[in-house]
Amino acid sequence: MKLVEVFESLQGEGRNSGRRCVFVRFAGCNLDCPWCDTAHDARFEMTVGELVAEIAQYRARSVVLTGGEPTVAKGVDELVAALKERGYWIAVETNGTNGIDEAPWLAFVDYIACSPKIERPGSLRLAHADEVRVVASCVGAADFCRAVRERIEATDYYVSPCERDGKMDFALAKETLESLDGWSLSVQLHKLLGFR
Ligand code: SF4
Repeated sequence: MKLVEVFESLQGEGRNSGRRCVFVRFAGCNLDCPWCDTAHDARFEMTVGELVAEIAQYRARSVVLTGGEPTVAKGVDELVAALKERGYWIAVETNGTNGIDEAPWLAFVDYIACSPKIERPGSLRLAHADEVRVVASCVGAADFCRAVRERIEATDYYVSPCERDGKMDFALAKETLESLDGWSLSVQLHKLLGFR
């Protein structure tokens, strides 16, 4: 499997904020957003067995598969089955464009967090998630949130402030939330509190 990094930290966003997890960041993404600031070029490779053994080195019993786009990673089905067999709680963070609703390996996944891209309004192909997080990156973000809510059934819907030049735009997030019903605020706590 092509990877960028594997590390342990606390989840900084959404309903599971504060949960100790092993984060597995896969290389590669099915989108090529020009504004992407997430490292997703492969730095190393591991077999599924090696990756499971690496994850077992950490204290956390929860694993977050992230990216890039983890759902396009070759062998992700084998990985989640192996982790579930070992009793891990497994979350997947996806951009929601890979059409995974019918993927058999989702049966092993405990939590799906979807972050639809406001700049890619027509590309969503996910019908169900546990939580949806939209970054309020422009003035029309509330309209995008409403469209996302019609498309994806989820338990929780969050608006996150957009980070620009190291500063979070709380004003735009607040403005977006004020015109929405049933959405909550999710701040990237790991950035505010200085953990990874
Ligand atoms: S979906 Fe996310 S990781 Fe993929 S290119 Fe866009 S911003 Fe980057």
